[in-house]
Amino acid sequence: MQEPQALLRLQEIDLELMRLNAQLNAMPQQKKLSAIKAAQKNLSGKMKAIVGQRKDAEIDLDDNEAAHKKTVDRVSEVQAEAQERAQDFRGIRDLEAHLTALAKQLEKIEFKHRELEANLEKLLKAEQNANDLAKKLGDERKVQQESYERQSADIMARVRVLAAERKAVLQDISDGVAQRYAASAKRFGGLAVERLNGNMPTTCRVKLQQGIFGELMRGPVITECPYCHRMLVTEGALAHE
Ligand SMILES: [Zn+2]
Repeated sequence: MQEPQALLRLQEIDLELMRLNAQLNAMPQQKKLSAIKAAQKNLSGKMKAIVGQRKDAEIDLDDNEAAHKKTVDRVSEVQAEAQERAQDFRGIRDLEAHLTALAKQLEKIEFKHRELEANLEKLLKAEQNANDLAKKLGDERKVQQESYERQSADIMARVRVLAAERKAVLQDISDGVAQRYAASAKRFGGLAVERLNGNMPTTCRVKLQQGIFGELMRGPVITECPYCHRMLVTEGALAHE
């Protein structure tokens, strides 16, 4: 293919690809999929926080149980000591006071244990709920994705054909022209190239003055529209007159 024709075909391909993409994006499954993805992202943030809190709660509970064991051991030690010093009344009084203090300490630890257990239970439940929701979102995402793929199969097949043709067409376009095209397509929302219909560019439709027209026809076949600055293919202009 000659470069000017290849360039015009490239634009047709890209405009069709844009239309197909818009169709794909407008499919209801896409809207649902993006809502599901947002919910998954939100959930994964919450999940991290819950797991962190749950691990802290487990550590707190372990610490509490260790403190409980240590205190119970201490009670046994003091009781054994009391037995040994059964004749030493003064010593016994001190030990009894110590045992009373230890009993109070144990009571406090046990009270705290119930609190920590309730907290851990609450967090485990929250974690379970989050896991259930994650599974539900994952299943729903799969359903929507499959439905999307089924319904978009024809469009996707056309996209693949166009993508292959685009690659082939680019072989006939020089790097410099391809770069100008890319910049112009970006600037003009895909309508990057116009051609001449007689002395009128096909997109901006501002008639060229005779002098400018003559000058353009003597220049390169791929040039720039003096009015709208799109790329302009002058080849074949007279054929359209
Ligand atoms: Zn123009």
